[in-house]
Amino acid sequence: MSKAPDRIRIHVGDITKLDVDVIVNAANSSLLGGGGVDGAIHRAAGRELESECRMLNGCKVGDAKITKGYKLPTRYVIHTVGPVWQGGGRGEAELLASCYRKSLELAAANDCRTVAFPAISTGVYRYPKDEATDIAVGTIGTFIDEKNMPATVIFCCFDEQTAQLYQRAVAALREA
Ligand code: ADP
Repeated sequence: MSKAPDRIRIHVGDITKLDVDVIVNAANSSLLGGGGVDGAIHRAAGRELESECRMLNGCKVGDAKITKGYKLPTRYVIHTVGPVWQGGGRGEAELLASCYRKSLELAAANDCRTVAFPAISTGVYRYPKDEATDIAVGTIGTFIDEKNMPATVIFCCFDEQTAQLYQRAVAALREA
């Protein structure tokens, strides 16, 4: 089994276009859609996604729930709710790590081999991008190695600057 850094890919673009087993949505706790990547996913998936989300009774911060992908190329969408950045003293780091762990657990439970993540909490929720990137890569790396998970994880970055942060974090993981 190859180690975590070989199972991580970095992609620059729109996560709604990815033909993978599952994409992760940076949702809000209502799960009824919002702006940013959440809005893009709901627009591309169609109204049926909202109907399924309505039956889930929301989602707690740090937790994750799964739905079908409807009109998206992906089979499933995992909706996770990242923390709003409030300065770092409100458990934000642990909650963000929990989003990545819970999402991967759900992906594994649903036999998903290719999983794409956006940079959770780094938009409207204002989590500092460099810290969020280290948490994303560190949590995923540990999870893949500890669980021997046979998955490829794609970090879908919306811009080149974010992709550079991920490249640096994955290089650090390789050297660790
Ligand atoms: P949050 O509320 O968790 O901060 P946002 O959607 O505001 O969520 O932003 C999370 C990240 O997703 C940001 O880095 C933003 O640039 C990125 N993003 C926005 N739209 C897309 C998209 N279509 N595909 C991939 N990433 C996206």
